[in-house]
Amino acid sequence: MKKITLEQWEKEYITGPVKQFDQKYTMGRRDAWDETMWERMRDLPALPPVRDEDGWRLSNWAMRIGPRSIAAKLAFLNFPRPNGEYEDIMKVYGIEPPRMSPPEGARLDIDEPAELTEYIKKAAVHFGANLVGIAPLDRRWIYSHSYNVNTKTHKALDISEEFKYVIVMAYGSGYETRKYYPTYINTWSVMGQRQILGSSFLTSVIKCLGFQTIDSSFDDIGLAIPQAMQAGLGQLGRHSMLITPRFGANLRLGQIITDMPLIPDRPVDLGITEFCNACKKCAKTCPSQSISHESRSTEPITISNVDNELKWQFNAEKCHINLYGYKRPCEICISVCPFTKPDTAFHRTARWFVDHARQADPLYVKLDTLLGYGKPRKADNFLEEWHPRPYDF
Ligand code: SF4
Ligand code: SF4
Repeated sequence: MKKITLEQWEKEYITGPVKQFDQKYTMGRRDAWDETMWERMRDLPALPPVRDEDGWRLSNWAMRIGPRSIAAKLAFLNFPRPNGEYEDIMKVYGIEPPRMSPPEGARLDIDEPAELTEYIKKAAVHFGANLVGIAPLDRRWIYSHSYNVNTKTHKALDISEEFKYVIVMAYGSGYETRKYYPTYINTWSVMGQRQILGSSFLTSVIKCLGFQTIDSSFDDIGLAIPQAMQAGLGQLGRHSMLITPRFGANLRLGQIITDMPLIPDRPVDLGITEFCNACKKCAKTCPSQSISHESRSTEPITISNVDNELKWQFNAEKCHINLYGYKRPCEICISVCPFTKPDTAFHRTARWFVDHARQADPLYVKLDTLLGYGKPRKADNFLEEWHPRPYDF
């Protein structure tokens, strides 16, 4: 894994001026206002199906839908949010945002940015993050406007100049359930819910230390992946997700911006771009054909794509319809990706070769297939085979 400078990172991913993206055009927000999407989803049944088939039964369905129903409620932890969501609802119940600040007269006993950085990174891990990185706040990735889905209000997002850093956290998930695709089991992870909790806890700690911070538990501040790359967590994959050395793309990202003085990390080059050029497993298996089979380009293909970013263009509309508001199981792209592997000595060695002998990428892709990775596993004996570990929710 090679550490690179921000300038080198820029050359690899950015081809021209990047206009700040508007939160209104993210897929999660378009459901609230975009009639063209309503039209395309009109005839789909609202609830995902329970079928008399291994992996699709009620016991499999409940493990996916139960935690996801809780996720929206956890959003209340992240109140007030930059887009003002939930404020009206909370006012109805007479609930004020908690006031978190240091006790009168208390002074912070850590004044070195290096020590504060160590403290914050360890605190993030304590609250459940598996990976943590810090980047200087690059305002190109902050949304130009926020969109409140409850009130349907759209307003400029004003982030004061005092916010100088972004802390990016990755919450990984286990590999075992990922093999049982395409079923509900493949999508049982609660990394998103862990991310909301972890980010909320860390936000509260930073406020209690006397610094300003804004949490982005629901992607409220800006685009997570470029910030995660600048913070040194990984690189962008063909499937449009961040690939990290330890979890591949089997993770969820949280970001917190702050005025706390911190020491930034550096972006990394793990050989992902070269590997994805040789491998198209995600593109070939994606049921909605949302993932590009072509080379990287800067041409947006929907209104949810960003200009002047050199990447495999992703059709988020098709993926969203396939998932229908994230209720249906899929995430096949995560299951088949050769970087979605357990963090064992064998796989660390394989990743070392991918990083250090990049000319052999087509061979690694073939080997991955020959060894049977990325193949769907039947769920007929799942309960016996399943040995969950704490992060294997
Ligand atoms: S979640 Fe499914 S539909 Fe969406 S990109 Fe991945 S494989 Fe394709
Ligand atoms: S499946 Fe292959 S092409 Fe797709 S993101 Fe993973 S490594 Fe890249």
